Amino acid sequence: MRIARFAGPDGVVTFGTVDGVGPDGEIGDDTTVTPVLGHPFGPLEPAGPPVAFADVRLLAPVLPSKIIAVGKNYAAHAAEMGGEVPLEPMIFLKPSTSVVGPGDRIDLPPQSEQVEHEAELAIVIGRLCSQVPPRRVNEVILGYTCANDVTARDLQKSDGQWGRAKGFDTFCPLGPWIVTDVDASDLAITGRVNGQVRQDARTSDLVFGVESLVAWISQVMTLLPGDIILTGTPAGVGPLVEGDSVSVSISSIGTLTNRVVTRD
Ligand code: ZN
Repeated sequence: MRIARFAGPDGVVTFGTVDGVGPDGEIGDDTTVTPVLGHPFGPLEPAGPPVAFADVRLLAPVLPSKIIAVGKNYAAHAAEMGGEVPLEPMIFLKPSTSVVGPGDRIDLPPQSEQVEHEAELAIVIGRLCSQVPPRRVNEVILGYTCANDVTARDLQKSDGQWGRAKGFDTFCPLGPWIVTDVDASDLAITGRVNGQVRQDARTSDLVFGVESLVAWISQVMTLLPGDIILTGTPAGVGPLVEGDSVSVSISSIGTLTNRVVTRD
């Protein structure tokens, strides 16, 4: 099932289920969104008839209380950053206010001269949980979506702490929707800028996979419904400039595309 958050033709924001898309999330003429009652963390009850996809505007599929991101979780990316794969997951936080949705703009802030894309698989937590044993991790995951862990690379290097480099408004595009019934252990993940492939890998290359990440992180902090875990980016990160169109595609999930502009 694909769960989106969207503004309907009347401007009202609801969650809904998406139907009529291709196996890798391709949108077609018969793609529809059916609004559901309330939130997506319980049973999904339809709240009205399907709406044509062309008549809605997708928003970020969740509004997380927090975003936990994992650094250097693909060996080839750790190497391109000039480092080794860590012995344990290396986590950092992005603020909830960095989230934007499909089609939204990524603002280049004046403080940075080197903003880069990071295509990532995002885990969406489905229920409050703490200290989850690995064998029960699948019980606490609602699904998966695409993410772009946008990073001011120059500030990441100069600041020491990553809060500023990873935390600007618009630096966490999420979407296009949450896919609930997918095995995320070996999906193709691709990052493109203006249609050119920059990152091309598989989630089977993750150093720490989904199960161990959720188990490990939930030993540290309680996870709430809607919380997001960014699982790390593969090799091929690179700069974004004004006017770029950047997209993250994950097989079985879909494509998240954003445009890059200089902050007003
Ligand atoms: Zn990242």
